[in-house]
Amino acid sequence: MKIKNVVVIGSGTMGSGIAAHLCNANIPVTLLDLKTEISEKARDKIHKSRPPLLIDKSKINNIKVGNINDNFDVVKEADWIVEAVVERIDIKHQIYEKIFKERKDGAIVSSNTSSIPIKVLSEHLKNEQKKDFCITHFFNPVRYMGLLEIVKNENNDLNKINQLKEFCEIELGKGAIVCNDTPGFLGNRVGVYAMQVAMTEAFKMKLSVEEADAIFGRPMGIPKTGVFGLYDLIGIDLMADVLKSFIKELPKSDKFHEVAKEIPLVKKLIETGYTGRKGKGGFYRMNKTGVTKVMEAINLETGGYSPSKKIDVKSDKVDLQALINRKDKYGEYAWSVLSKIIKYASSLIPSITKEFNDIDEAMRLGFNWTKGPFEMLEEIGVKNFFNRVDDFTGNGFLEDLSKTKNEDFYGERQKYTNIETLGKVKKTASSLDGNDSAKIYRFTDYNIVEFTTKANALDYDSMDALKKATDKPLIIINESMQFSAGVNLTYTMEFADKKDFKSIEKFIKYFQETCKHLKYSKYPVVSAPSGLTLGGGFEVMVQSNFVASHTNIVVGLVETIVGLIPAGGGCKEMLARWLDTDEAKKDPNYAPLKVFDIIGYGKTATSPVEAEPMKYLRPSDKKIMNRNSLLEVSKNILKDNKDFKVPNEFEFKLPGKAVRGEMDKILDKLYNEKVILDHGVVVAKELAHVLSGGDTSIDKTLTEDDLFKLELDAFMRLIETQKTQDRIKHTLATGKPLVN
Ligand code: NAD
Repeated sequence: MKIKNVVVIGSGTMGSGIAAHLCNANIPVTLLDLKTEISEKARDKIHKSRPPLLIDKSKINNIKVGNINDNFDVVKEADWIVEAVVERIDIKHQIYEKIFKERKDGAIVSSNTSSIPIKVLSEHLKNEQKKDFCITHFFNPVRYMGLLEIVKNENNDLNKINQLKEFCEIELGKGAIVCNDTPGFLGNRVGVYAMQVAMTEAFKMKLSVEEADAIFGRPMGIPKTGVFGLYDLIGIDLMADVLKSFIKELPKSDKFHEVAKEIPLVKKLIETGYTGRKGKGGFYRMNKTGVTKVMEAINLETGGYSPSKKIDVKSDKVDLQALINRKDKYGEYAWSVLSKIIKYASSLIPSITKEFNDIDEAMRLGFNWTKGPFEMLEEIGVKNFFNRVDDFTGNGFLEDLSKTKNEDFYGERQKYTNIETLGKVKKTASSLDGNDSAKIYRFTDYNIVEFTTKANALDYDSMDALKKATDKPLIIINESMQFSAGVNLTYTMEFADKKDFKSIEKFIKYFQETCKHLKYSKYPVVSAPSGLTLGGGFEVMVQSNFVASHTNIVVGLVETIVGLIPAGGGCKEMLARWLDTDEAKKDPNYAPLKVFDIIGYGKTATSPVEAEPMKYLRPSDKKIMNRNSLLEVSKNILKDNKDFKVPNEFEFKLPGKAVRGEMDKILDKLYNEKVILDHGVVVAKELAHVLSGGDTSIDKTLTEDDLFKLELDAFMRLIETQKTQDRIKHTLATGKPLVN
């Protein structure tokens, strides 16, 4: 079975997302809705979406639109028909009746339902039809969420399910987990339970919403939206509907009921239009008075709002043992929530899946947790867990484990895929090395470095690990959301606050030295980025010999936004790439001006297709749809480059002050138009100095080290200014840029 042509019915949030993603994979798709105007609007929205659902705007041409009355004939040609209409069984039944009259023999029909079982969806289908009918449960936003649950039951042709899985893995890049027809499947069953526990325990223990989110968030390896923030994001009313459906479907004995009871405050919020971010606000709201905006949080006891408080739980890293052993209410809350999640998830084995490890993977891929419940249990330690946990009678998994107390119960990861993933491979490393910021996994013929800090921000230790690992071919890759958001600015500011600029200089020099080492060491280095690959993260990638990039990257040099310039080789490498063009050979100002524009504005690309025209990526860099395949592709690059030759150093011919005049003209214009203010000019002039080659002229040759020196000096002059420090502090505190 080949899938070459798809029809998606229903062009709302999910239908559009699915259509856009099929387009990304160059699969022609027709999007049908009740009226053509609705699907046309949906196509426009896809085109304008932010973050973009398309990896390249031109891909939109792969989507045709129409309506289910005049254009239903398209179903005759489709290899796969995806139904993504409203969650109403009567409407879904009518659509299936229509589809099965028209579809070609053997074409797959699937529903995107999040809560209706296959047995109900397919109750009016003939046995022959049931063979080809399943649920394909995508997560929102489809391009970015890794999880796809393919739900089957006993009537399915398993061969076909496996072919669909393969298509969704390879062509669409999804982590496709095949699961049984049980309510909420894997991800939502455990994920929604986890949210409900986190919420009900916060009420019980009288934690504020900010406190609960500060614990049920980063310290647990869960996204920082926590529970209340996530509730606001999903929609409080939608969550109420989801709960109703679970209550209806699950047997009375299921522990889910204990945490799904209606909460009066939640009911009141929905009734008064406080449905979350899409409504007037929710557990958090933005209070605007005149020009000032204040983020407020609700008081769970009184329902009143007051300015939201930042809670510092003093935990930079995910350390579950330390968290649950805290002798305060946070430790108590963490244990209570975690132990209940572990108990619930394990109680579902084997009814929802035989492979407990699939639940963990569903939580990673569908909820962006860094670890699922069973890995959390592994981290807490089996003995520790059983020393503290209360009653678990009837939970077969825990009863068995309590007898063996086997700390190594976990075994393999990522069983759902045949791909040789990082998650599988790192467990087989012959030795493990590294430090607080990065791990080194050593294998016979190559090493892997995985950054491990928050957003994989880089510091001295990250560089140390990279340098140490170049004693063999090296792959830089990780499993977290971001490749690296750049240099750790908190770390840099700690020195700046103490006026210890020497230490900053030492760090930047070491950063440069390490990146140069990556580029020119004896063995090839491959970077495999996914997610944010910004600033220093980009500099590591760009100075690797090869790149295998995931299609979901956000890549660029954004230093100017915090009042700095790239100083780890970013200016140097971008110049080298732009100097190596036909235009630059004719016009000496061409490359410096191009790079001035890109770095000056801190431009980013949100996919490899956008990155190439800016030369953040090269045509020869590999671009990969399935994140799980990054390791395999990287390993193949190493295999293909067994006779790797260290590249020659690049030599720069730059025009010096001849081009700075042009750059000044650009700056004058921007300053007069108030696009940039005083410090913006200072930063841009430093950038101009570096990109022009400093005090040079076109007949002179500069080395890579000369460029490094220019970068370092400019960086140091900037970091010492109060206004750059103000910018950094502001960004660290608010996540937003300061224009000064
Ligand atoms: P939505 O309300 O955004 O869109 C539904 C679309 O279906 C609308 O454009 C509507 O005009 C169209 N529609 C209604 N009746 C139709 C008919 N008879 N023929 C053709 N089109 C019709 O809904 P959504 O959020 O995209 O959800 C769609 C499905 O996906 C639901 O089954 C939902 O449970 C499921 N789901 C949603 C999410 C999510 O986060 N929104 C996630 C996973 C699954």
